[in-house]
Amino acid sequence: MKEVALSERLSEEIRKIYKAMESEYDEVARALNFSCNACPDNCCDSYFLHHTYTEWAYLWKGFRELDKARQQELMARSQQYLLECAKAETKGERPQVMCPLIDDGHCTLYTHRLMVCRTHGVPASMRRPDGQTLSFPGCFRCQTIVKKKFVHDSQAPHVERTQLLQRLVAVERELMGEKLHLYPRVKLSIAQMLVNGPPAIPTPHCERPGIKTNV
Ligand code: SF4
Ligand code: SF4
Repeated sequence: MKEVALSERLSEEIRKIYKAMESEYDEVARALNFSCNACPDNCCDSYFLHHTYTEWAYLWKGFRELDKARQQELMARSQQYLLECAKAETKGERPQVMCPLIDDGHCTLYTHRLMVCRTHGVPASMRRPDGQTLSFPGCFRCQTIVKKKFVHDSQAPHVERTQLLQRLVAVERELMGEKLHLYPRVKLSIAQMLVNGPPAIPTPHCERPGIKTNV
């Protein structure tokens, strides 16, 4: 297997995409006078799956910057997280388990947290490649604010995610190359991304030891 690693240039592009997500989120949050301060909930126990090799590789980039003891601790927590999720799923329930990266209410890999972590909260919309537009109303607290301020939800400011997602897809295509559609689809929780190790794909035939090419 060959690890899927981000080049410095692609990592920089991810940083820029994440930054743009954050500033668009902040702008909408400001306009709605919304924040997570004093919220009785913590969305880091929501069960989300993530879908790109790009974000998986970037999460690992951050994880490797932690010291070994911290890595081991987070790995053990991730294994525990997976056991608890499996228990809930056996009972036919959607898992609701605190993310293994949370520490005293703070995200251990804040600068490397994934797109879903950066966009959940405020209203958003997204145009799918088939032309259909999806609307996300925001979290329960934000929906309460929107209902008080606007006659219709559609009048509320929102983050337009389409362009940001297109940029992420462009990085994914560049990272994985033309054969992206041939690789297994990513559908993993953050804990699975850590426990499974960094993303890896089968070594191309021509790069395997003992294989001679005509090049
Ligand atoms: S996104 Fe909403 S529900 Fe989640 S912590 Fe923030 S205010 Fe609370
Ligand atoms: S990665 Fe960080 S922000 Fe995302 S769910 Fe886990 S603790 Fe929360």
